[in-house]
Amino acid sequence: MILSDLIHKIEVAAKLSPPLSYDNSGLIVGDPIANISRVLVSLDCSFDVIEEAASVGAELIFAHHPPLFWEKAKKITADTPEHGKVFRLIQKRIAVFAAHSSFDASPLGTNDTLFDIIGLSEKENFICEEEKFFGRIGILNKETTLAEFAGCLSEKLDCSVVRYCGNKDTKIKKVALCTGSGAEYEYFIEAKKLGCNVFVTGDVKYHNAQYALDLGLSVVDASHYASERIAMSRLIPVLQKEIPGVEFIDSSTNGQIFNHCQ
Ligand SMILES: [Zn+2]
Repeated sequence: MILSDLIHKIEVAAKLSPPLSYDNSGLIVGDPIANISRVLVSLDCSFDVIEEAASVGAELIFAHHPPLFWEKAKKITADTPEHGKVFRLIQKRIAVFAAHSSFDASPLGTNDTLFDIIGLSEKENFICEEEKFFGRIGILNKETTLAEFAGCLSEKLDCSVVRYCGNKDTKIKKVALCTGSGAEYEYFIEAKKLGCNVFVTGDVKYHNAQYALDLGLSVVDASHYASERIAMSRLIPVLQKEIPGVEFIDSSTNGQIFNHCQ
């Protein structure tokens, strides 16, 4: 299938609306008229993922995060991490399509997937930017403690680096979440105002967590990777059903770059 046609079909199947104005999603590297028969689906386009794509014969990497973000490149040389990836992709004739903010906001995307995995109900949207919502709020069927909630999430996400801030016995019933990097002061304030007991996100900094605790809001840092990675895997059967002429492969590269000490 021609790459530009395939991207259109992916956008429809994954229910992708236009990205945020400053986001760098879409076709990042590649020839729109190239023929694609195999796609590697991954959260990131790391060097390891590029090698994996080459080894499985994928002509396209569908990544959540764009490999290039803020820069306006004037040179593409192989000796920097960002441009080195572009260099490698072109060498291997592998294209990259990234959905990023479009997939974060999609009903099949990162936030709604985490909502389902936690087992929440009574969904409310929050954290609005350019008329898209990047956070979700929901209710647990049964009240639990913060320590139990974080431990259960660690198991569900198969993630050993889940951390929590707050008293382990704090009662948890109403949950706010924003996958990836959502540990912002204003999001904590909004979640607290809406009656949430805990905020689940990734990339939590010390002072931001302190601020949440001062507000009386517990925080669970599920790690940026684990909070979002599972949504890509769950999308694959949808893509495979809607676009049967192309093979979609779930990446087996472990992109969880953090470890915990034994
Ligand atoms: Zn992310």
